[in-house]
Amino acid sequence: MIARDMKQATLTEPKNIRFSDEQVPDSLGTMDVLIHVRRIGICGSDIHAYNGKHPFTPLPVVQGHEYSGEVVAVGSQVTTVKVGDRVTGRPQQVCGTCGPCKAGRYNVCANLKVEGFQAPGVAQDYFVLPEDRTYVIPGTVSFDEIALLEPAAVAAHATSMVHNIGEKTVVVAGAGPIGNLIAQFAKIRGAKRVVVSDFNPFRLQLLEKLGIMDTINLSEESFQQGISRILGDEPFQVGIEAVGVEPALHNLVDHVEKGGQVLIVGVYEEHPRLNMGFVGEHELTVQGSMMYKHQDYVQAIEWLVSGDLQLAPLITQRFPFDAYNEAYQFIAENPAKTLKVLIDVN
Ligand SMILES: [Zn+2]
Ligand SMILES: [Zn+2]
Repeated sequence: MIARDMKQATLTEPKNIRFSDEQVPDSLGTMDVLIHVRRIGICGSDIHAYNGKHPFTPLPVVQGHEYSGEVVAVGSQVTTVKVGDRVTGRPQQVCGTCGPCKAGRYNVCANLKVEGFQAPGVAQDYFVLPEDRTYVIPGTVSFDEIALLEPAAVAAHATSMVHNIGEKTVVVAGAGPIGNLIAQFAKIRGAKRVVVSDFNPFRLQLLEKLGIMDTINLSEESFQQGISRILGDEPFQVGIEAVGVEPALHNLVDHVEKGGQVLIVGVYEEHPRLNMGFVGEHELTVQGSMMYKHQDYVQAIEWLVSGDLQLAPLITQRFPFDAYNEAYQFIAENPAKTLKVLIDVN
């Protein structure tokens, strides 16, 4: 039984989420799916928006782009999703007609709107999504874990940009949720070796529990010391930047092997300075990685279901839906002990 009324959470101004009563959408497009939202993850980009510092997010906005839910209704032409399925959605609204879209690179669509940023997100009891962006998760995967498939897809995409990964050592700057997931994907994809650096020992210990033992605690040793301790004279060929600050970028660019690759996944509040002469002389590939595509969700789901990918250990706190503001306050006050915070919608 679907309710007629629902609660919606809107970020009306920086640091202020307000709740309102709205109507549940009652007419569903023929290709649409109605989702009863269960969990929403909060990520770094959400925090930028909450603080009013996300450069591409005008307020007011309904947040929520990483989530899980249960299907409660489907349009008349929907064939791959049915009522009762546990699902998540890919929050990218793309035009399908620009150059990148025509080339299959719709993750960098010229007219991209991401739900939760430039289009309304899922911070409400019910949400309508087109079938082709809905992913059914088979088996008994929890709603908690399903909500983390969106950041997992980010990591799936970034690591898919490394060719012949089996012959390469990958160094990840940052052990937050994205850095953690990138390290996990690099390992699952068979990287020769995976090393992760961060200042936060809590985050590095979690990686060690997940079997990623080569970590550099930057509060105890320099990046260079850590790299020589772990790799000796062996170079590394790939650096993946998952922090979004200049020193982390420099650690990778300054130490990656000549001819190596540095992928940019972190979101930068400040524009970093980079020695482009050095990039040129070393023929480095400094390359962006933007969100994900359909196949990255498919890959993340496959490895979550197979047990290769571990998502549950990343969850550190949960808050009820009406404590959305309190969740952000907690994250701001406790950076050292939060990794992934979930909102329990229903
Ligand atoms: Zn996110
Ligand atoms: Zn497009």
